[in-house]
Amino acid sequence: MKLYYDLHIHSCLSPCGDEDMTPNNIVNMALLKGLDVIAVTDHNSCGNLRAVMEVAGDRLLVVPGMEVETAEEVHVLCYFPTLAACEGMWQILKEHRLPVKNKPEIFGHQWYMDAEDEIVGEEEYLLTTATGLTIEEVFKTAQTLGGVAVPAHIDRSSYSVISNLGFLPPHLPVTAVEITGRNLETWEKDWKDYTIISDSDAHYLGDIAEPFHYVEINDKKVCEFLDNLTKKFC
Ligand SMILES: [Zn+2]
Ligand SMILES: [Zn+2]
Repeated sequence: MKLYYDLHIHSCLSPCGDEDMTPNNIVNMALLKGLDVIAVTDHNSCGNLRAVMEVAGDRLLVVPGMEVETAEEVHVLCYFPTLAACEGMWQILKEHRLPVKNKPEIFGHQWYMDAEDEIVGEEEYLLTTATGLTIEEVFKTAQTLGGVAVPAHIDRSSYSVISNLGFLPPHLPVTAVEITGRNLETWEKDWKDYTIISDSDAHYLGDIAEPFHYVEINDKKVCEFLDNLTKKFC
């Protein structure tokens, strides 16, 4: 079956995410757009994931994930087979975060929400900072938890492995990379050994992807989807 995806969406937990990016709004917009699979990947946290998954139910496949910022200020998307595994990564990140408090009036609020879009808390530590984990450690930790790490938006001039390190470290077990532009063809030539995913990195509802990129798998299951991160997307 052909499943249209957007594996990089921020909720209102990310300070840079619009306050309209609530669990219900994200799920409903994804359904409205005709997507089959999404991942809500907040910066260094997955605190709204439980609510998103509850809202989605079996209407939309939600791949548990988050966008981790490494010590080198490289963004890495981490996807997991279960919510518990993703929350395990979150716990580890909490132990390696910088003790910098958020200033909502400058950076924006970091709302935790329930499945009714009610605010149930606010993250006090700023989520958009580097963690103390190197890119190697992020890959290793994600793998240990059964997850897949994917260098984010390698086509961008900031917070990407290419912009910050200048190259993809050859010893990193990378099987997939993400671009946020639609023009896959230009990247497919240079990155032919990797699975390339293309996502929106939406911070606003209207930016959630149109049904443009898809994957073909036999079963609409997270584990199938993760397996396919090492195969070819369209
Ligand atoms: Zn990013
Ligand atoms: Zn992002």
